[in-house]
Amino acid sequence: MPVNFRQTTLRKPVSCIGIGLHSGRQIGMTIRPAPANHGIVFVRRDVRDRPATIAARWHNVSRTDLSTTLGNEHGVTVATVEHLMAALRGCGVDNAVVDLDGPELPIMDGSAEPFVRIIRHAGTVELESPRFVMWLHRVVEVRDGDKLAMLLPGPHSRITVSIDFGERVVGAQSHTFEAGRDLFDAELARARTFGFRDQVEALHARGLALGGSQRNAIVIDADGVANPEGLRFADEFARHKVLDCLGDLSLAGVPIMGHFYGYKPGHGLNNALLLELFTQRDAWSYVTMDEYGRIQGIGQDDGEVVAG
Ligand SMILES: [Zn+2]
Repeated sequence: MPVNFRQTTLRKPVSCIGIGLHSGRQIGMTIRPAPANHGIVFVRRDVRDRPATIAARWHNVSRTDLSTTLGNEHGVTVATVEHLMAALRGCGVDNAVVDLDGPELPIMDGSAEPFVRIIRHAGTVELESPRFVMWLHRVVEVRDGDKLAMLLPGPHSRITVSIDFGERVVGAQSHTFEAGRDLFDAELARARTFGFRDQVEALHARGLALGGSQRNAIVIDADGVANPEGLRFADEFARHKVLDCLGDLSLAGVPIMGHFYGYKPGHGLNNALLLELFTQRDAWSYVTMDEYGRIQGIGQDDGEVVAG
C-alpha cells in the first residue's frame, strides 16, 4: 500500500442509514467527493433557516461529554463525529462533504467498520494537490488529574492508549496501533464502544443515549460482558479508545506525524491537546508528506500514513 503523497477524496458518493445514539431517531448520511484543500465538512440538510455547514476542525468542537460534538457560530451542531472521522482518516480520505438529515451521526454497530465498508465500496481517488502533514518538533502534552494525552516526535504515526477501570470488568488494558502497517480495517475499525449498564440506565432516565443498546455498544454489567456475541478482541475496550483518539486527532485537519500516547484519554482531553498544539505554534510545522518522508528518511514502501 503506497504512501499517499497527494490528497484524496471519494470516487463517488455513498450513503447509509442508522439510529442516532442520543436521539434514538433514524438518521441518513451521505458522504460525497470534495476538492483538494476542502477538508471534511458536515452539512445539516434538515436545517434550512440558517447556515448549516460545519468544518470538522478542532476549534469547532462544542461539546465533549458522551461523544465529540461539532458546532458552528449559528448554533448548528453535529454529535458523535469521532467514529466516522476515524474511518475517513483510516481509509486515507482527506476531503469529503458529509450530508446529514439529523443532529448526529448514525451510531451503526458502535464501531467504525460500517463506515469503512461504504468508504471502501466508493473507493478513493488522488487529487492534484500535495498532502500536508504536521511535523512535530517537540513533545506537547496536557493533563487532567491522572489523565494524560501527549504527542511525541517520531518518524511514523503510532497511537498508544492505556485505560484502567480498576476492579471493573474492563480492568487495565493498553493497545498500540501502528498506522504504517495497513491494519486499520482488521485491527481497529471493528472495535466497538462500550458502557456500563448502570450508567446506560442512568442516561436513559435523563433522556440521553436513547438509541444506546447492545446492538451498538458492548454493555457491561455485574456479571461481565452482557452481549451474547461476546467481544471481537480481548482488548476491544482499549482498541476502541485508540479509534476514538484517531478520530478526535483528525480534527487537526491534517495527519499529525509522530506518536500519540494517552492514559485514560477522553474526547475532552483530546480536544484540549489539539488546543495546546495549535497554541504552541513553534512546536510543529506544516510540510508536505513528500518533504516529511525526505526529512525522516521514509521510503515509499513504508506504507500508508494515517494518524492524526
Ligand atoms: Zn467511540
